[in-house]
Amino acid sequence: MTGFPAERTVILTGAGSPRGIGRYAADHLAAAGWHVGLIDIDGDAAAATAAGIAERHGVCAAGVGADVADREAAVAAVDALEQQLPQLVALVAFAGVASPVPYLDVDEQEWRRVVAVNLDGTHWVTQRVARSLVAHGVGRIVGISSVSAQRGGGTYSKTPYSAAKAGIQGFIRSVARELGPHGITANVIAPGPIDTDIMGGTLSPERKAAMAADGVVARIGTPHDVAAAAAYLIGPDSGFVTGQTLNVDGGLYMH
Ligand code: NAD
Repeated sequence: MTGFPAERTVILTGAGSPRGIGRYAADHLAAAGWHVGLIDIDGDAAAATAAGIAERHGVCAAGVGADVADREAAVAAVDALEQQLPQLVALVAFAGVASPVPYLDVDEQEWRRVVAVNLDGTHWVTQRVARSLVAHGVGRIVGISSVSAQRGGGTYSKTPYSAAKAGIQGFIRSVARELGPHGITANVIAPGPIDTDIMGGTLSPERKAAMAADGVVARIGTPHDVAAAAAYLIGPDSGFVTGQTLNVDGGLYMH
């Protein structure tokens, strides 16, 4: 595709946790030739992950620590990565936190924590990355929602999480509309339950079976399922796809 550079960098937030989707996706995208910049609240994990990726795939990779909910930290992290890596072309904002608290027990602190990381964090990093993408006239942004936003929870996390993840869908649609004329697409992936540790620890076979029961495909998802969707949405072939939500959920939610 014209304007889509061969030497290109994707920034992934939330790529620190060992069994998380972000870390897997970073490896997957590096294997496909992307240079990668990683941001995680665990800066050591982000740096170590980046070092491993550079060694395995021979791409440029760097990892820095930042709380994405903190605007200044988020901006500084993107600044630092951009200085060290080839042209920034894409963002996949995986950083997120779960919240299994029943609604009537949600206090101000829990509400702010969950919305701040999932929604504000996606916004701050997106806004900073978008400034660079607009300057280059090409770019891809992917926000990470959840089937919890569409079905009102039902897997693990509850109301603040569902609200923040639904917010990401409205946020990304608006970003898609404003930035489309600049050659930038913005889309959402809404995963169903994925086999990571975010839902209160590693899932037992019984919990996996229960979570898969409502779906059409008889299993829960893997980080690979989500990473493959991200690879498509940030790649050169998805330039006419924008403002969309791609449900990677085994048919849990159809509309
Ligand atoms: P995970 O807990 O393994 O990974 C989340 C990552 O975000 C971790 O590396 C963590 O350190 C990082 N993080 C947390 N708070 C941060 C902050 N303030 N600043 C920067 N980094 C921060 O979880 P996962 O399952 O890999 O989830 C990845 C994304 O996918 C999340 O947004 C999650 O809500 C979403 N999601 C997951 C599932 C699932 O079933 N696993 C389903 C739907 C959506």
